[in-house]
Amino acid sequence: MILKVEDIHTFYGTSHILFGVSLHMEEGEALALLGRNGAGKTTTLRSIMGLTPPRDGRIYFLEKEISGLPVHLISRMGVGLVPENRMIFPDLTVMENLMIGANPKKPGKFTIESAFEIFPRLRDMSNRPGGLMSGGEQQMLAVARTLMINPRILLLDEPLEGLSPIVVREVGNAIKRLKNESKLSILLSEQNVGFALELCDRVYIVDKGEIKFQGSTDELRDNLEVQHRFLAVEGGRGRRRGDA
Ligand code: ATP
Repeated sequence: MILKVEDIHTFYGTSHILFGVSLHMEEGEALALLGRNGAGKTTTLRSIMGLTPPRDGRIYFLEKEISGLPVHLISRMGVGLVPENRMIFPDLTVMENLMIGANPKKPGKFTIESAFEIFPRLRDMSNRPGGLMSGGEQQMLAVARTLMINPRILLLDEPLEGLSPIVVREVGNAIKRLKNESKLSILLSEQNVGFALELCDRVYIVDKGEIKFQGSTDELRDNLEVQHRFLAVEGGRGRRRGDA
């Protein structure tokens, strides 16, 4: 088992946000964490990464307890988070952003060259400052930069949010390659249910800080009641099943 989250309770100050979230994933699996705005997806990923450590419960990565460890140690062990707000450096070029992410002491299968191979667009703009890239290009850079730490597991926080359909396809295909060719384990927080069902093996649905459904992607596809209850996203930024 690559990741095990056991009954975590996470707070922002005095606000209790996660109420006993548990999930597990095997190496090489892609897991979707679905739910509406404010359901607790980002907080779950931040809890795993140690950015907002849970106050109760435990998290294990490759059988070792990581809850309570500082973020840099969790990252060094092989957990890579691509945050929703991307957090790229706007004044640094694409190449510089990637170099900052790289750890020369820990070379691995992902290099700047292999990141360019997955995101060819980045190679063509390697001297462009991050701040002058489109949203989709910044998202590609954010994923590529996280690859530089050579993660064993990638936590992706709504990577397709706000992207145009054509860019959704491009970024989505790159993420599929990371799963199918690079064999990365992926925990994907998404509102794009169509893409999540295409990519992932299993699904968890979080609502009001609790896991309300878990099952295979086929089980969710067949369960319209659960979809409507917890995932119906009318208009707004969410996309409906099949859009990707
Ligand atoms: P979104 O699609 O909006 O990112 P989400 O499922 O990722 O949704 P979270 O960001 O985990 O949801 O938010 C869960 C709850 O925690 C929400 O009620 C939100 O208002 C609250 N929250 C998030 N960040 C903070 C914070 N820094 N301080 C206090 N409350 C917060």
